[in-house]
Amino acid sequence: MEMEEMSMCVPSNEKESKGILPNREPLGSIVPLLLEWYDQNKRKLPWRENTDPYRVWVSEIMLQQTRVDTVIPYYMRFLQECPDLLTLAHIPEEQLLKLWEGLGYYNRVRNMQKAAQKIQSEYGGQFPGEFELLRSLPGFGEYTAGAVGSIAFQLRVPAVDGNVLRVISRIVENKEDITKPVVKKEISAAIQAVLPERVGDFNQSLMELGAMICLPNGDPCCTVCPVKALCRAYAEGSVQDIPVKAAKPDRRIEERTVFILISQGKTLLRKRKSQGLLAGLWEFPSVEGKLKISEARAFLQQEGISFTKVQTFKSAKHIFSHIEWRMSGYLVYLKEEWKEADGVWADTSQLEKEYAVPSAFKSFYQDCIQILKSNQ
Ligand code: SF4
Repeated sequence: MEMEEMSMCVPSNEKESKGILPNREPLGSIVPLLLEWYDQNKRKLPWRENTDPYRVWVSEIMLQQTRVDTVIPYYMRFLQECPDLLTLAHIPEEQLLKLWEGLGYYNRVRNMQKAAQKIQSEYGGQFPGEFELLRSLPGFGEYTAGAVGSIAFQLRVPAVDGNVLRVISRIVENKEDITKPVVKKEISAAIQAVLPERVGDFNQSLMELGAMICLPNGDPCCTVCPVKALCRAYAEGSVQDIPVKAAKPDRRIEERTVFILISQGKTLLRKRKSQGLLAGLWEFPSVEGKLKISEARAFLQQEGISFTKVQTFKSAKHIFSHIEWRMSGYLVYLKEEWKEADGVWADTSQLEKEYAVPSAFKSFYQDCIQILKSNQ
């Protein structure tokens, strides 16, 4: 029954062409096995309580690049503050960014707000239940549209993320580079060709297998895998070699000197430019380069900042996709608050509740709060 339904949705040219995935035969047979395994083993997660598209969408965006355990408290807090599209469409941006603080990739939540606004203005406040319309919403790539479409609307579309690319590559023993768009396209088409009626559950079963069993970095738990009898990489002993990924270009290293300015129980935060890296977020003032303490003092004097004490604070590193920041911090006690055009002086309560400070500054931020509290 399942196979008949599957073959109905396979375009004839896909059935004939095996493209760059010559070993795709096992895929049809994994469907019932994975669905059965998923029914018995899926984790109880708050976004799986129902298939409301808003809840599914929020979880899918949060789960991109962030582990499930980390996401759960963020998810609960987000839904409490922004329980629906209407609230999300209207929440002030500063509050929204604060809610997202710690998850990184702030453009994602900005796009979520734009999408919520578009859904309000163009679709009467209801998610459109068509793949192409979902895909046209801000921040909806193939994956997000596939995940929301299949889980919330049962649309017959795949949802191919890194987990799924890895799982399928191993099952069919794909040795092509999964970072190539053409490979991803082939894998998507191969999944599309076997999608069953329970499409949302099947897509989630692939993701779940990748998260629980078919783990990355050569560490899968093949002996307990529900599809091991069909997995070509397991049979051929090539699991450790798959997936193949092109090496990423080296990251640019950028040294920075960060100043934690303290005055009367407050610290200075500066708003970043509205474009580029960490756009519009709040940061501790910093300059490029690694200044020695004598150079840091000279720099502060040159800027007209009158201080009573400068002391070495701490160092920290933050890795972005293309840059690595190596930061050296100085704690600077001022005689009086210094005026900075794009800055605000924030006390501990404002630091904790109002201003979104990106994870890049997390260790400075946490220690700064402790220092301000101990000086109270
Ligand atoms: S047998 Fe191993 S490599 Fe193959 S799908 Fe299962 S966990 Fe992944």
